[in-house]
Amino acid sequence: MDKWWRNAVIYEVYPRSFADSDGDGEGDLAGVRAHLPYLRDLGVDAIWLTPFYPSPMADGGYDVADYRDVDPRFGTLDSFDEMLAQAHALGIRVIVDIVPNHSSSAHPWFVEALASPPGSPARDRYIFSDTTNDWRSVFGGPAWAQVPDGQHYLHLFDPGQPDFNWRNPQVRAEFESVLRFWLDRGVDGFRIDVAHGLIKAVGLPSLGPDDGTSSVVPYQDQDEVHEIYRDWRRILDSYPGDRIAVAEAWVSDPSRLSLYVVADELHQAFNFDFLQAPWDGPALRHTIDRCIAAADAVGAPTTWVLSNHDVRRQVTRLGSLDRARAAILLMLALPGSAYLYQGEELGLPEVLDLPPHARQDPVWKRSGGTELGRDGCRVPMPWSGDTPPFGFSPNGASWLPAPASWATLTAQAQAADPRSTLSLYRDAIRLRRAGNATGPLQWLDSAPEVLHFRRPGGLSCLVNLSGAPLPVPDGTGERVLASAPLVDGALAVDSAAWFID
Ligand code: BGC
Repeated sequence: MDKWWRNAVIYEVYPRSFADSDGDGEGDLAGVRAHLPYLRDLGVDAIWLTPFYPSPMADGGYDVADYRDVDPRFGTLDSFDEMLAQAHALGIRVIVDIVPNHSSSAHPWFVEALASPPGSPARDRYIFSDTTNDWRSVFGGPAWAQVPDGQHYLHLFDPGQPDFNWRNPQVRAEFESVLRFWLDRGVDGFRIDVAHGLIKAVGLPSLGPDDGTSSVVPYQDQDEVHEIYRDWRRILDSYPGDRIAVAEAWVSDPSRLSLYVVADELHQAFNFDFLQAPWDGPALRHTIDRCIAAADAVGAPTTWVLSNHDVRRQVTRLGSLDRARAAILLMLALPGSAYLYQGEELGLPEVLDLPPHARQDPVWKRSGGTELGRDGCRVPMPWSGDTPPFGFSPNGASWLPAPASWATLTAQAQAADPRSTLSLYRDAIRLRRAGNATGPLQWLDSAPEVLHFRRPGGLSCLVNLSGAPLPVPDGTGERVLASAPLVDGALAVDSAAWFID
């Protein structure tokens, strides 16, 4: 039998915004546990939990102060164990986030580094330097911060997220121990944050003027990073069950991405090319072909994703709910695994008009408010009821306000409606699981603005990206699912349907 992760549907839970069990306005692990039956009914194989570790929350928990504990706002190690046991009892695997590129500045190692002199072993676990280069923080501004004795430390993200020095053996040993800590507790794998960034080029060379000729960035996708993942694979394989790791790697092209998923490295790597592709038939087809070819070349599955806690929700990004509904039928019909982000199954749009005082993303803060940042895709899940925050917390508390217009989008409002987006996701996951998810894709003849392909199990997918209704071609088989009602046998503009022959 194929390994479970090769065609799994995995659901990203952003715990802070999923479900709040204790009324502090922030979601928690007990809230995740309470909603596991919802995820079972959705039909997902696994969940990926973004960081729930102790953190000052300079970057929503991606600034980890202790890699072996749970932040009190999210619960305790006991509540983690209870959630994990319950997930496993319901047949749902659990993947946790590991953040190896940087820690929080509140991590004991960084506190020790600051208290130690330049050149000391404690400083060598991070990247301290007497001089700086021209690297910029992903969140805006310089990537270096100065400490009182005059040295500078590297932070590719927020100043509260100092980068580790992965050439230091203690850093390597520490993360191997952290992996074992969570594997021993029973997790099914890891999502590796900034997997492309751990190794920096020797000498920390400046980028120099951007003349558009160089695609090599000295702090991204350095070849030596693969040694680390070969070591991690050996650890994963030493545990019973199919424990996996998925890379969040932003790299220059699909062939570079495939290097992370060769047989002795990681299992999956998010395919961001697909996420970033425009809503355009030829562009999507080209991206799908390139990504499948690159993954096939190393015997790996592709890992599709349309959404996560860092990007604008697809209803808004693609321009309409119709497109988002068609896009999910396209994605879930493709060979390989697929990741969903909480709330996309409800058709949630990005919230663009959050009040400035509510915004917490460092992108918003560091850009002086010129970039909205990522809070708009992190607004808490609307579960039930007519008023915000729609059952997110027991007492109406919510760390980000939900729009009143979400009353019709709650899980409760959509659950029994066969035409809802929630029903579309449930149906698509069930049909995909019913035996059509393995084997390659075969393109069928179509106009450039139409995507039409068939899978070996007999499932075919037709997507209409043209500007006119599309009559379903003869011999397409029995229609089993559609993102929008057909009119006179034709697929509406920006819709998709599945057929079985
Ligand atoms: C995470 C982001 C985070 C960044 C720094 C990312 O790729 O997904 O949410 O801000 O890493 O840890």
